[in-house]
Amino acid sequence: MHRPSIAVVGRPNVGKSTLFNRIIGERKAIVEDTPGVTRDRLYGSGEWLNYEFNVIDTGGIEIEDAPFQVQIKMQAEIAILESDVILMICNGREGVTDDDRFVARLLQKSGKPVILVVNKIDNFEMRNDIYDFYELGLGDPYPVSGSHGLGLGDVLDVAIDHVKMLDLGEAVDDSVKVSLIGRPNVGKSSLINAILGEERVIVSDIEGTTRDAIDTKYTVDGEEYTLIDTAGMRKRGKIYEATEKYSILRARRAIERSDVVLVILDGERGIIEQDKRVAGLAHEEGRAIVIVVNKWDAVEKDDKTMKKFEDEIRNAFQFLDYAPITFVSAKTKSRLNTVFPLIRQVDESHKKRIPSSTLNEVIVDSVSMNPTPTDKGRRLNIFYGTQVSVAPPTFVLFVNDTELLHFSYKRYIENQFRRAFDFTGTPIHIMGRKRN
Ligand code: GDP
Ligand code: GDP
Repeated sequence: MHRPSIAVVGRPNVGKSTLFNRIIGERKAIVEDTPGVTRDRLYGSGEWLNYEFNVIDTGGIEIEDAPFQVQIKMQAEIAILESDVILMICNGREGVTDDDRFVARLLQKSGKPVILVVNKIDNFEMRNDIYDFYELGLGDPYPVSGSHGLGLGDVLDVAIDHVKMLDLGEAVDDSVKVSLIGRPNVGKSSLINAILGEERVIVSDIEGTTRDAIDTKYTVDGEEYTLIDTAGMRKRGKIYEATEKYSILRARRAIERSDVVLVILDGERGIIEQDKRVAGLAHEEGRAIVIVVNKWDAVEKDDKTMKKFEDEIRNAFQFLDYAPITFVSAKTKSRLNTVFPLIRQVDESHKKRIPSSTLNEVIVDSVSMNPTPTDKGRRLNIFYGTQVSVAPPTFVLFVNDTELLHFSYKRYIENQFRRAFDFTGTPIHIMGRKRN
């Protein structure tokens, strides 16, 4: 099951941001030392009754200079496309407006669960003001006060009920989830079409029946894959992808649901800042990664061009030093056959388990080759290590003092692990834990 998303929709000033902040609470975004990765204010995570979910404030996505109706239509459609449950927010102090009716109609047609939230009901006496909202045809209105933090529990209860119902309908799915991410026009749609058009790719299910109706299932050499979000990208995404925030939001959502992320670069136009941002997200989420340079047909080449571009990539994406790179063309279909073997390889790395005995042999060897550091006369002592999880492979080193396990030595150990085992294409996490 993937983490469900709840979107907040409504006209300006009804209190969407206030409610968004309430729902995500004081939860601090995980701080990563990845360059170029900053968290958008419009995307956060929350938790209720042990359910973790994402929250999207669609009010944060804007088309510059567009009239209000276009703006709100886009926001509603993004909510419909990107979330599992929608909270439609109204202002209880203003009553029902024409704009509310407009938004409600869009949401009604979507078939997605919508919860009608009437905000700014700051005290008990005001609760009578909510009955007018029945006319929107979205069921019971829920009174809340974003600024006082009232009523949200009831709303989240209902939201989680919807999520649970969706889960019941979702079959167990062991296929390898693959997504293609990259800025607009790098050739994602063309690549998807080219890949699905390959002879050995058997597309089994174009429009799925689960909640992810926009995923494509297919089989290659007996292995089952799910290509995430492809139809969505082909149909709707194009219209809004132009707004960078939406493009990043959609990338983030696809990454969260993936095992393997193909980071697509444009060989013709080179690397730009936005490429680093989306790639940074995949790294941050700990996904298996393949870097695919597309449009290689359009590049004037000699025998050094590939190596030169590879150096540029390594330099721009230093945090992705583990990711393999392949050069392809969706247009001429050249080298497309390199993609699946790499997907398979990085997926295996991502799910790899190293037996403790083997792991500890490598640790002992590593320490004897490069003794542990000392700090103020105390030496780091690694007693033993163990792999605690996969996807990505995560290791715990039991040590005398975690303060002594500096970044540089961790990095050294990581490199030794990479040398001993094939972790091509996957980040690996190493943590220290104190043992007395
Ligand atoms: P958004 O444009 O929909 O994101 O709305 P904001 O969250 O920015 O809120 C708009 C205004 O309404 C701000 O001045 C908030 O302080 C105010 N506001 C938000 N929630 C409440 C509430 O529950 N009660 C009252 N009285 N004001 C609120
Ligand atoms: P997306 O926005 O990332 O989905 O990109 P598209 O698949 O829509 O492609 C954007 C543009 O690049 C289109 O005009 C494609 O025809 C072109 N394009 C895609 N792949 C290739 C390629 O391999 N070579 C060349 N020369 N052009 C390509």
